[in-house]
Amino acid sequence: NRVLYSEVHRPCSVMLLVNPHSGKGQALSLFTGHVQHMLNEAGVPHTLVITERQNHARELVREADLSQWGALVIMSGDGLLFEVVNGLMEREDWEEAIQTPLGILPGGSGNALAASIHHYSGWVTHQNPSVAVRHHYSGWMAHQDSNVVVRHHYSGAQPVSSEELLVSCGFLLCKGLVSRMDLASVHLGSSPSNPTRLFSFLSLAWGFVADVDVESEKYRHVGAARFTMGTLVRLASLRVYKGRLAYLPVDEVDGEEDRQSSVSLEEMTSVSPQCQPPSSAFCSSTLLCRPSKDSPCQNAAHNSRNSNIAFKAKNWEPMSANATLTGPPDSLLVPLDQPVPSDWVVVPEEDFVLMLAMYQSHLAKDLYAAPDSTLDDGLIHLIYVRAGISRTALLRLFLAMEKGTHLANNCPHLVYTRVRALRLEPYSPKGVITVDGEVVEYGPVQAQVHGGIARLITR
Ligand code: ADP
Ligand code: MG
Repeated sequence: NRVLYSEVHRPCSVMLLVNPHSGKGQALSLFTGHVQHMLNEAGVPHTLVITERQNHARELVREADLSQWGALVIMSGDGLLFEVVNGLMEREDWEEAIQTPLGILPGGSGNALAASIHHYSGWVTHQNPSVAVRHHYSGWMAHQDSNVVVRHHYSGAQPVSSEELLVSCGFLLCKGLVSRMDLASVHLGSSPSNPTRLFSFLSLAWGFVADVDVESEKYRHVGAARFTMGTLVRLASLRVYKGRLAYLPVDEVDGEEDRQSSVSLEEMTSVSPQCQPPSSAFCSSTLLCRPSKDSPCQNAAHNSRNSNIAFKAKNWEPMSANATLTGPPDSLLVPLDQPVPSDWVVVPEEDFVLMLAMYQSHLAKDLYAAPDSTLDDGLIHLIYVRAGISRTALLRLFLAMEKGTHLANNCPHLVYTRVRALRLEPYSPKGVITVDGEVVEYGPVQAQVHGGIARLITR
């Protein structure tokens, strides 16, 4: 089940993109101080690329000769990976390019994906303690007793220091195991017939969370604590956000298929990783498995969950692949100036405090916002909070989110549902929408998930 970089038929070198200004501005020294010696010891050749400005990384990967690189790894916050993902998806050869293994080392103030993969890896280690990994962990981590390490890594609810998170992600990078990761296609529509399309690996936010993300920029010198400070400040001036929200729910049949197809870790790790669909019988989750409707993989988990509904008869025309856009067609979406399809749910309320769509578990290191989410579940975990919630109740929600218990809090204002696609039409002319923590054009927005189309170094 081990994927060495060379097994993906590429030379081994890793392009390591560092944003020197991310977080507290210490990404480079954190890298040299904590991760470089691990990579050297593990024999992972890497080339450091220091980004010089915003969108530098995006342009670089858009033009790069990807055959030279075994993986593209960022040492920054989520914003730099957002650039890399979009740079890859903007290429003519996006379908091949997005297969390049991606990696993340937390060097920013918002390290949500790093926190998520750290969380997933803990689950794996716990679920399958025989994996040799934990012995390695004990070498890298302060704890020498591997049992302690297993416990230490088990729960996403357990706080972890920024340094531990970095070392944990550095270790995942040394191992080089690759898994599939969901991306969402996001349409931003001031011009509905010609929308801007972005690809997102983490979140789409509006309202309280998006405002905190932006307002807390000024506290970036305190690192991850910026979100706590931002939350407290925003609570003091809590407001209502008006708009219309609609979504395509995960229907019962799909839900059942999801449950059936969630292969246990034991199954995944016990099978031979020799999958070359369609000929092989079973496939490990880590190799270049690209099942299609006509040649599905026998590992049901690997057949895109999107396809279950994408091929169903519909009473509307899905968005065609726009010739000017690269990337997969969004079969679940209709143009933003048309009403949502009839099988969508339109939320009756129009007054909100926040809307948060997540495809991974963590919104920040200590915000375990979507506890059910996994890397490639093909789901958007939609959370919204209706207006009318008190400041104390909202604060309680955010405190509970540190442990991931907020959904079990019976908060009458909070709604959590799993969806394939969603649309948000804010009513106010000005406001903030973030995608993966980055501010995007404000206005009507819609998104659909593309199950497992990217690949990430994790586990
Ligand atoms: P943080 O979590 O600290 O915000 P990010 O990785 O999200 O770190 O980066 C913040 C922003 O900085 C992103 O929008 C990214 O595109 C941008 N960026 C990347 N490299 C540079 C650079 N060299 N100078 C300035 N901004 C940069
Ligand atoms: Mg997910």
